[in-house]
Parts: sequence; structure tokens; C-alpha cells
Amino acid sequence: MATVGFIGLGNMGGPMASNLAKAGHKVKAFDLSEEALKAVVADGAQAAKTAEEAIDGAEFVVSMLPADRHVKGVYLGDNGLINKLSKDQLVIDCSTISSDTAMFVGEELEKAGIAFIDAPVSGGVGGAKAGTLTFICGGTESNVDRARTVLNDMGKNVFRAGDVGAGQIAKICNNMLLSVLMVGTSEALQLGKANGLDPKVLSEIMLASSGRNWTLEVYNPCPGVMENVPSSNDYQGGFLVDLMAKDLGLAQQTALESGAATPMGSLTRNLYHSWSEQGHGRQDFSSIFNYVAPKSQK
Ligand code: NAD
Repeated sequence: MATVGFIGLGNMGGPMASNLAKAGHKVKAFDLSEEALKAVVADGAQAAKTAEEAIDGAEFVVSMLPADRHVKGVYLGDNGLINKLSKDQLVIDCSTISSDTAMFVGEELEKAGIAFIDAPVSGGVGGAKAGTLTFICGGTESNVDRARTVLNDMGKNVFRAGDVGAGQIAKICNNMLLSVLMVGTSEALQLGKANGLDPKVLSEIMLASSGRNWTLEVYNPCPGVMENVPSSNDYQGGFLVDLMAKDLGLAQQTALESGAATPMGSLTRNLYHSWSEQGHGRQDFSSIFNYVAPKSQK
């Protein structure tokens, strides 16, 4: 069992840190939110007052932060961990951020002799709680192998996409596809509803037909069709619209830089951005179901 410093205990990081503690690792956890910290302490983690305290003596440092600026700030900012980390520690950043930022942070840490991998995840809050996440890693083979000691207790798949930064590219490809599936599934369910179909029955039909996809399988966006999903909990507690909008922005930036054509990704980026602007940024991303509701229901 390992000693792990865990930074960022939100919707994803909280259950991930709890799973590490439950598996028997010694977890020292830190979050700016005391409430977030309490939840993981209840599951056996030790509370740290600062990020520095959390990483002290840890073999692995895992971070699960919202976006680029948080990751840059934590590692390279004024009181950045770069000056506190030691050469025998492995930093595993699981946040979804730009590939450029991951490479920049990785290079700066490497210059200081500290090993780094990016390891963004797929599987949502359900996967984080169940310990069934997919980790999409970028880094050297030996660092990714070393990380398995902790990743295997938070997920069921560990992929190496390539060198540092490659995990982030694979992750935004996946999330761009997910957004297209979510918007398309929402439109199909709204179309059926508007024409008198029961969304539960329509979901069953599509699940057994060629429209089958992950959103219908485990994350139906229509309230009442599935239990224990954000749509049946007033769109609370899942993957924020703002975070999806961020990922789609990263995908568009990457597409521009590489000359890739992503017309559907561009469309879903605009839809999620506009939904956020309308005040839904803190709802789960499946709430886009309401964006495509007939005018009479809005
Ligand atoms: P969240 O907003 O629920 O949690 C982020 C946590 O980070 C918060 O508790 C916040 O207090 C903490 N934090 C921010 N700055 C900090 C700092 N300087 N020091 C310590 N703690 C700090 O976000 P989330 O849903 O857990 O997502 C985290 C990352 O995972 C994001 O990059 C997101 O894109 C990615 N992700 C989320 C999901 C999902 O379904 N929610 C799925 C896959 C990937």
C-alpha cells in the first residue's frame, strides 16, 4: 500500500480519494472546501490543512482540479508545489486540461527532477464512486506503470495514449464525441416526447436499436427514465455544463491548431457555451435536454 497526497476533492476527486483510503492506502487529502474534505475523512483519509502538508512524505501525488489555471497554480504558482516536491515522488494529474498546459507543467517539473504523468479520466461521477474509471495517461511507460499502484484502486482501465500531454488529447476526443451523443440523444427523446411517445419506452427501443449509446445505457438525460442519474436529481451532482463547455473549448482549440475538421464538435461547443450563458453552468451536462425542449416547455 502507498502513501498518497490527494489535492482536489470535488465531484470526482472526493470519491476517488475515498476509494484509495478504503483500499488501504494512506491518503492525505486537501481541498479549499472544508465540506469536500469532511466527506473523504469520513471514509478514512487524513485531512491536510494545505496542499504542501498533503504531499509531505507521499510516494504519489494525485490532483483532480477543475481547469488549467488551477493545475498551473497548484504546481507552478507563487507557493507552487514544484518547490516542495521531492525527486522520488510521482505526480499524477487527473484533471482535464489542455495538452499544452499538461506538457508545460510536466516539463517544468521534469527540470526540477520530478516525474509527472497526465491521467485524465472517463466514467463520470458514477465511475468515480464505483472505482471503475478509465484512466487515459500520457507519460513514459515506466511512470505510467508505476502509477498503476494507485490508479488500479480507482479505476478498471489504464491506457497509455503516448507521452506527457497525449492523455489530454485522447480525453478531449472522447468528450467531444460524448457531447455529440448527449445532444443527439436529447433531441431524439424530445422529438419522441413531442409526438406522444413515453421516453422510457423510446429509450428501451433505441437501446436495442442502432441508436444505442453510452448516454442511453447509463446516463439518460430525460428525468424519470433512470434512477440515480443527474437528470432524476434536478441535474445535480454530475459533470457540470461549465466543465463540458471547457472541454469542448479545448477540443476546438486543438482542432484549430492541428487543422482537424470538427464541425459537430464546434456546434456542441456553441450549444454548451450558450446553455451556460443562460445560467445553467452549474447543472449536470445532461441538462442540455432542456435546451432542446420544444419552446412551449421552456
Ligand atoms: P469539481 O468542481 O466538483 O471539483 C473540483 C475541486 O477542486 C473542488 O472541490 C475545489 O474546491 C477544488 N479546488 C480548486 N482549486 C483548488 C486548489 N487550489 N487547491 C485545492 N483544491 C482546489 O470538479 P469535478 O467534477 O470533480 O472535476 C474535476 C476535473 O475532472 C475537471 O477537470 C473535470 O473536467 C474532470 N472530469 C469531471 C468529470 C465529471 O463527471 N464530473 C468526469 C471526467 C473528468
